[in-house]
Amino acid sequence: MHITHRDKQYSDMTLVDHLKSCGLLREQAFVDGSWVVSSTNKTQIVTNPSDGSILGTVPVFSEAEVTEAIDAADVGFREWSKTLPHERAKRLRLWAELMRAECEDLAILITLEQGKPLAEALGEIEYAASFFDWFAGEAERLAPRGVTSHLPERTMEIERTPVGVAALITPWNFPSAMITRKAGAAIAAGCSVVVKPASETPFSALALAALAEHAGLPKGVFNVITGDAPTLAKVLCGDTRVRALSFTGSTTVGRTLLEWCAPSIKKVSLELGGHAPFIVFDDADMDAAVAAAVDAKFQTTGQDCLAANRILVHDSVYDTFVERFAERTRTLRVGDGMDSDIELGPLMNERAVEKCEAHISDALDKGARILAGGERHALGGTFFTPTVLADVTPDMAIAREETFGPVAALMKFRSEADVLQEANATEYGLAAYIFTNDGARQARMARGLDFGMVAVNCVKMTGGPIPFGGTKQSGLGREGGFEGIAAFTETKYICTHIPSI
Ligand code: NAP
Repeated sequence: MHITHRDKQYSDMTLVDHLKSCGLLREQAFVDGSWVVSSTNKTQIVTNPSDGSILGTVPVFSEAEVTEAIDAADVGFREWSKTLPHERAKRLRLWAELMRAECEDLAILITLEQGKPLAEALGEIEYAASFFDWFAGEAERLAPRGVTSHLPERTMEIERTPVGVAALITPWNFPSAMITRKAGAAIAAGCSVVVKPASETPFSALALAALAEHAGLPKGVFNVITGDAPTLAKVLCGDTRVRALSFTGSTTVGRTLLEWCAPSIKKVSLELGGHAPFIVFDDADMDAAVAAAVDAKFQTTGQDCLAANRILVHDSVYDTFVERFAERTRTLRVGDGMDSDIELGPLMNERAVEKCEAHISDALDKGARILAGGERHALGGTFFTPTVLADVTPDMAIAREETFGPVAALMKFRSEADVLQEANATEYGLAAYIFTNDGARQARMARGLDFGMVAVNCVKMTGGPIPFGGTKQSGLGREGGFEGIAAFTETKYICTHIPSI
């Protein structure tokens, strides 16, 4: 069956029935190669944020059941860590191929449980699969290296060994890619994983497990558990057999998990919040800068840690930029992600809507002007109108906190030194964007911005080969690139005495 959009013809089955029948919508957890429910019979409901309809349920695991998942991963690790890198690469490449073969259904799952437009969801599946391809290559490139000996009669070698069982805790904004970016790296390194997806979007994680079975991953290597986050996370962080934790989510939760991992000194990778500055100089290509700012702000309905949270524009082009940005924003189409011409879906939950409202009202109280949107969308639920706030100043909450919603904050600056200071005046340091055609300024700004990633005259910058991550309270470590696989390895130094004849 071929399903694309709601307005096209498809069978009389509902999308949910279709996904169930093709085996991609699974309502059990996946542990030790088996689909399991909880012995407590407790379940969590998963809903479609577009209309609140129930998509299905997943089990609520008890503490003992989390430990059973770790038992399985521990056994899985012992076998998987002995496999040849070539074998691990083969499984990952096959998994990626299966994702591409099933991309439409996987994308529909994302749209149903997360709300993003189907075209964005399809893009996420390709992005997610690309991490398996990349880390398949990294598995094969992870070679030992020799060191020139500083001691007589010795050979010295440095190996990278898999760290052990890894716990992966992921958010709902990229329900597939945030898992593959971690799991691809861990599994390539020879680790086994226990994934705890966000409660809002467990079905994308479970669909990956269904494909892992077909890709021939041995049992115990990829496990997915569901339930109450703090309960599950406490067991995962407390178990000494779990040697690595990789988390993507809010800075608040990341900080708690870091504390929980301290007693067993785990390797911890954290991808946390962002507060990206998007800086437009007067020599920038204005058409390109406006289009890029709209993309960087409103993709994933602004629920993206890379979202442009502060758009800083040079005084001399500010009025023109603001007018054109607001004009384009007013044309953005909001609706159910399954409708074909939609650009923004709903927000994930009521909390997210309230945060947008709080940022808008605080900004207006302190003198900002509203040029587009500013209120809940007529569609109701968690739909919100794409909003533009002009004349935002540093004392406003939106200039200091991540909004994680479709509210653009436009600020004015006068000099390069001032904008650099304002851009860096945040506890976050994930990503920054600069638009300027002056080469020396590009280099100066890129060097001066205290962020893990800087995009110059572009928005799209992430993918398998690059080390994704931030400075300060945006996190610890990097995902992707060589750094991504290194996070799931230990460095082992072997010194061998070879006496001379
Ligand atoms: P979140 O509330 O921190 O949730 C992320 C994950 O942590 C979910 O699996 C969640 O499970 C779990 N969790 C929540 N509370 C927990 C607790 N007390 N103990 C243990 N686990 C807990 O974040 P979110 O709302 O999903 O995502 C938004 C945040 O993530 C934003 O700040 C954003 O910037 C950040 N983010 C960062 C990146 C990056 O790469 N840097 C990417 C995407 C998002 P439940 O769903 O079951 O509660």
